[in-house]
Amino acid sequence: MFSSVRARLTFWYAGVLTCTLLLLSLVIYWIVKRSVMARTDAGLVELADSFLATLDAELSDATPANGVAAAARQSMLEHQYPGHSFAVLTPIGQKLAASEDLPAATRENRRTEPSPRISPEIVQSCLASLSSTETPFVTLPGRRGGTRCYVRSFTAARTDWRLMILASRHPESELLARLRVALGWLIPITIILASAGGYFLARKNLAPVADMTARANLISESTLHERLAVQNPADELGRLAATLNRLLDRLDLAFQRQRRFIADASHELRTPLAILQGESEVALSNPTRTPEEYRESLSALQHEARRLARIVEDMFTLSRADAGQYPVNRCELYLDELVAECAHSVRTLAAAKSITLSVEPNGELPVSGDESLLSRMLLNLLDNAIKYTPNGGKITVAARATPAGAQITVTDNGTGIPREFHSRIFERFFRADLARTRANSAPGSAGGAGLGLSIAKWIAEAHRGTLGLTRSDASGTVFTVTLPAEALISSPSD
Ligand code: ADP
Repeated sequence: MFSSVRARLTFWYAGVLTCTLLLLSLVIYWIVKRSVMARTDAGLVELADSFLATLDAELSDATPANGVAAAARQSMLEHQYPGHSFAVLTPIGQKLAASEDLPAATRENRRTEPSPRISPEIVQSCLASLSSTETPFVTLPGRRGGTRCYVRSFTAARTDWRLMILASRHPESELLARLRVALGWLIPITIILASAGGYFLARKNLAPVADMTARANLISESTLHERLAVQNPADELGRLAATLNRLLDRLDLAFQRQRRFIADASHELRTPLAILQGESEVALSNPTRTPEEYRESLSALQHEARRLARIVEDMFTLSRADAGQYPVNRCELYLDELVAECAHSVRTLAAAKSITLSVEPNGELPVSGDESLLSRMLLNLLDNAIKYTPNGGKITVAARATPAGAQITVTDNGTGIPREFHSRIFERFFRADLARTRANSAPGSAGGAGLGLSIAKWIAEAHRGTLGLTRSDASGTVFTVTLPAEALISSPSD
């Protein structure tokens, strides 16, 4: 039952409301009880004042024969209130006069509220209780809420007396009982109504969650373009839906990229495979071929197989890099030496096109990095420079320390990259000039699949550095790699 947020919210809401209402009711009940009691006591004091005033007046009129007892009885006749009894007592508690001893005919209002009896036991228990309290009031327990007793000492005819007034607490207890009944009904009704309202509100407010769940369940790989409905972008659920939508955007983009990668990859693999297939079929179709013809076919097959192996290797590198599984093994190395080594290894390729390849001497440059990855990056850049520089061209490679870090530049005076492709050359499988690249992929050259720059960029970024196209126009192309300052190691000669 409590597996749904709605039910849990309602349960907690009802629980907190019940506790609050119970506390509130207790406080209200206590305040009402106190104020009713205070009102009764104030009434008793007023009654005593009025009674004693009447008694005084009676005594001043009275003849000595009548005395205090007669004056008291007369005052009692004038102070007949439902539920109230009067008694005038001697200081030791003997009854001189009591309202209940008046002749029945003279007593009024008996039916409205019976007046408490003033028996000697009651008088004694009242006086005994009062002797242990500081107030002149005491409550005597009994049926119908018990009795409130008030005693005041006074002097009349030069003698000390005590006036005792008993008030039935029945009206009070009835009022409190009515309050208890009212609260007893009100609390459960309020809780039931509020819980129903709370459940309804929770249901209404959480409806978008149910909607989101249903829609999210329908989104699959093929419907990644669909989005969740954002009902109110300003509230929490709206923000959640917007966040999930942004997540879907990213997933959609990643899936699109992956699909394009697979499509491009299969396209790239199809060409060398078709060549392999065609070449081998031609070689096998004619049994009377000379050994030179076989050698030529096998050399073409080998070239395509190498190209295929390189594309597969590059794709494997990128997919491992994407998955964060390509290890970057940093070690201390001299970047100037690495640059010289890479330049040396492509010297034959450059020489084949009569390209002058020079390394700018800038002194020692010790850095921390992955030697094999950095040389792969450099070889990709040099390979491109040689590929896209016409015969007799010039390529310069330089490594130097700058305030931004270690910087490597590869400059060629080749044909350059058309401006409209500058932003796309780092995309996977992108080639600015497909025809030109195809021409270069003729046997004997190392035609690429458009992955070289993507890999070089990833390597620079794996070293927390950057690879950028600094310039490319008709006068040539400059690529710059910057490894961050933290990669620089101060040389021992410093
Ligand atoms: P490829 O394997 O085709 O060389 P790259 O990712 O290395 O793929 O390069 C992407 C494209 O950028 C190339 O096809 C080429 O058009 C262009 N390019 C890269 N380097 C140079 C350069 N030095 N000069 C001119 N164009 C270049």
